[in-house]
Amino acid sequence: MFINSLNRSSSFYAHSFSFYKNISEQYNDHSILECVKQLLPDTVLNSYMADRSLKPLLHWFKNDLMKWMSNKIQCLSCKILMRVQILEGDSLNSRTSEIYTCDKCKSTIIFPRYAKILKIAETRVGRCSEWSILFGAILNSLSIQTRIVHDYLDHCWNESLINKKWIHIDSTLNYPISFNHPHYYEQNWGKEYEYILAFSAKSIEDVTKNYTEKWQIIHNRRKNDKIDLLKKMYLKA
Ligand SMILES: [Zn+2]
Repeated sequence: MFINSLNRSSSFYAHSFSFYKNISEQYNDHSILECVKQLLPDTVLNSYMADRSLKPLLHWFKNDLMKWMSNKIQCLSCKILMRVQILEGDSLNSRTSEIYTCDKCKSTIIFPRYAKILKIAETRVGRCSEWSILFGAILNSLSIQTRIVHDYLDHCWNESLINKKWIHIDSTLNYPISFNHPHYYEQNWGKEYEYILAFSAKSIEDVTKNYTEKWQIIHNRRKNDKIDLLKKMYLKA
């Protein structure tokens, strides 16, 4: 199912680097983190402070704060699937905009894919990228060092530094799968990875090994390992 996406060129990865670098830089911006922290209800914050469990935080984020944006939208009046057109955005504010149009009544829905954490905090809607961008900011606002991870197939999530180890956290999944279940995607979604990259403002890390039980297969799939090249590209992004 993912075969077509494998053995991609370096430029395929590089295309997203300035975006992830910019998000990672926003994670270091205290004024942004202070704003994001205001989203937290006292009950959720107090519960986290009491026992340092991320469970209430994950539950609140998924069930109360965020809305999921499907990429298959039905026109509410005509009950037919709307046609989607994707427009390039200016990368600083929005990556792309998705314009959904009903071919029958011509009504439209616009979904801008924002690249600014505070804009996502305001709209609170999106898919795995918006969710992980904002959830990562919320964790950083609680002084839990957190980064974005992308599998370069179709999913992204977070990792947080807990007891000096980077731990898998996916705010789009239900607890307890959302916390420290790195093999979940390979076991349940049949993922066939090439590179899974974790981002910080200054560098990328190849974290693929942590998410697979089939490392040798991935290693063979890579043919020539290009992680050093990707790291150089990230520096220049
Ligand atoms: Zn319609």
